[in-house]
Amino acid sequence: MSDTVLYEPTIGMETHAELKTRSKMFCGCSAEFGGSPNSHVCPVCMGLPGSLPVPNQKAIEFVIKTAMALGCKINTPTIFHRKNYFYPDLPKAYQITQYGDEPIGTNGHLDITVNGAVKRVRIRRVHLEEDTGKLFHNAGDVSSLVDYNRCGVPLMEIVSEPDVESAEQAREYATTLRNILVYLGVSDGKMEEGSFRCEPNISIKPVGTTELGTRTELKNLNSFRVLFKSSEAEIKRQERLLRRGEKVMQATLRWDEANGVTVPMRYKESEADYRYFPDPDLVPLEFSDALLEGIRSSLPELPTAKAARFVADYGLSAYDAAVLTVERPIADYFESVANAAGDPKAAANWVTGELARLLNADNLDIRETRVTPAELAALIGLIRDGTISGTIAKAVFEEMFATGKSAHAIIDEKGLVQVSDASAIEGIVDEVIAANPGEAGRYRAGEDKLLGFFVGQVMRASKGKANPGLANQVVKKKLAS
Ligand SMILES: [Zn+2]
Repeated sequence: MSDTVLYEPTIGMETHAELKTRSKMFCGCSAEFGGSPNSHVCPVCMGLPGSLPVPNQKAIEFVIKTAMALGCKINTPTIFHRKNYFYPDLPKAYQITQYGDEPIGTNGHLDITVNGAVKRVRIRRVHLEEDTGKLFHNAGDVSSLVDYNRCGVPLMEIVSEPDVESAEQAREYATTLRNILVYLGVSDGKMEEGSFRCEPNISIKPVGTTELGTRTELKNLNSFRVLFKSSEAEIKRQERLLRRGEKVMQATLRWDEANGVTVPMRYKESEADYRYFPDPDLVPLEFSDALLEGIRSSLPELPTAKAARFVADYGLSAYDAAVLTVERPIADYFESVANAAGDPKAAANWVTGELARLLNADNLDIRETRVTPAELAALIGLIRDGTISGTIAKAVFEEMFATGKSAHAIIDEKGLVQVSDASAIEGIVDEVIAANPGEAGRYRAGEDKLLGFFVGQVMRASKGKANPGLANQVVKKKLAS
């Protein structure tokens, strides 16, 4: 094939999210992450003969909620299937899942923002299944250990149409979807604990053609960075193969971080290998209008809608609005500060600036900060009414953050009230001018930019307490006389 052919990627996203339920999908075992191996198990999730599954109502509602948030049609009745295979991490030798035309949700969409433009990715299906156990391969011998704690944890699968067109869009899709699930409260979205897992199905085709190429599937990606890097590497690998006149083999790949390459794990089984059939132990689920209406009315405002409202109601930039709505606790915190302070822009600056910086430095979540929204709003008020300068406010805020004390208490304790008394500032200005006769002469000879130097000296001499506007006026007046 000629080198002049340009290729474009086509990516379908498969996402698995463990649902934030207390118990497992079909039994009462704890669904909590971790625990000593095989401590959260019973005959049902271990698949012992004679055990019967009972569906987890909460998990079903979480999937309906997600499907609704993604604009899907909710199918009723919906049924469960068995997907038959033998893997050591699945002792029943089948997985309960939803196959075929009537999963809980179908035909939705997810809007992502790429380079400032909104792109719509179609969602093919949202369904419910159960997670598998985990294998631990012993180094040094050929044995493996298996922990069934994760077996039977409710797992939601969200499958997109192949509408994603780059590694960057794949990452954006995953982060947007993750944020929605966390907003909905259906998943904790922790990629590092495997509760949110994204598997891109990647193929490439010559630009302008419609027939899709052979696809490969990337598994076990544990961060958004890895999703981006591995997708990009896989797109390039497929391109190199086609340019050399070779074929892409349908396969499941893993990411080799050390070498920056994708590596085949197994060549793909076909769907027929799984012998899907309806699970005879589980009756079809019918959803009443009342149930669906109840869930619909409980849907929270989602990040995109919230960001648009922040721009319209608070006059924030699109950028600030996007940053503040990435996580619901941040958005809630910001809104409380903005409303209490009556100054949304200042609230946005503090939350995205100093507060974010200090939280990052201590690796804290916004829910862990000791500064309440009301106290941050009080600090903003103290700057606005001239009690303290902006510079002092930063130092006060650091102390509030470290100790949980109020701004008023810190300002009183340290005598940080801004000096807005012209006569007190005049004394300082006189001293500064006397100490810098050379600069004073040059300013008087027309070197205007030295004004900033004098104001800076006055601020330093007053330990930041002089009102900067007033200092500016007094310096000008004194140097002109
Ligand atoms: Zn169990």
